[in-house]
Amino acid sequence: MKLFVKKLLLATTSLLVGLALIHHGTVAQGPPTLAEYAAQVKDARIVPAGNLALDGYRLTCGRRPTVLDPGLDDYGAAYPGFLILNPNLIARVPTPVKLWIYSHECGHQFRGPSEEVADCFAVQRGRRQKWLTAEGLEKICTFIKPARGSAMHLSGPERCKLMRGCYAAKKVY
Ligand SMILES: [Zn+2]
Repeated sequence: MKLFVKKLLLATTSLLVGLALIHHGTVAQGPPTLAEYAAQVKDARIVPAGNLALDGYRLTCGRRPTVLDPGLDDYGAAYPGFLILNPNLIARVPTPVKLWIYSHECGHQFRGPSEEVADCFAVQRGRRQKWLTAEGLEKICTFIKPARGSAMHLSGPERCKLMRGCYAAKKVY
């Protein structure tokens, strides 16, 4: 699901598992396939699973490819079977935030639509893979701090509080 973007805080999600969806101004019958998605967006680039690297970190989410979509209205999004990143927005954030965004979207692939679970999945993955330190978690908190709550998301500070808990928790999400 979308992380957040100022004017789109109240927008619907773009993980749209099993939902009729509105995306890029069109109403679709169900989630698009990778080919359908890539065909409808301008300048999309499909990065096969295993080929994505951000700031020197190779990122994988099982066998799922990533679409780099410069027109995406958020940093990242997910549809069943593939992830989407806006390369222009992603380029502007610190490394731990980049990796967390990707992992959040990956969390939706494995854990479903819950935003809280996707956030926890991402920080625990970062802890396990050793790219997320306590300092990096603070960068993520700074990044999401301005986000207001919406139907889909808690506010930034609330998400941060939950992630701090997950980062420290033994329980695996
Ligand atoms: Zn999400």
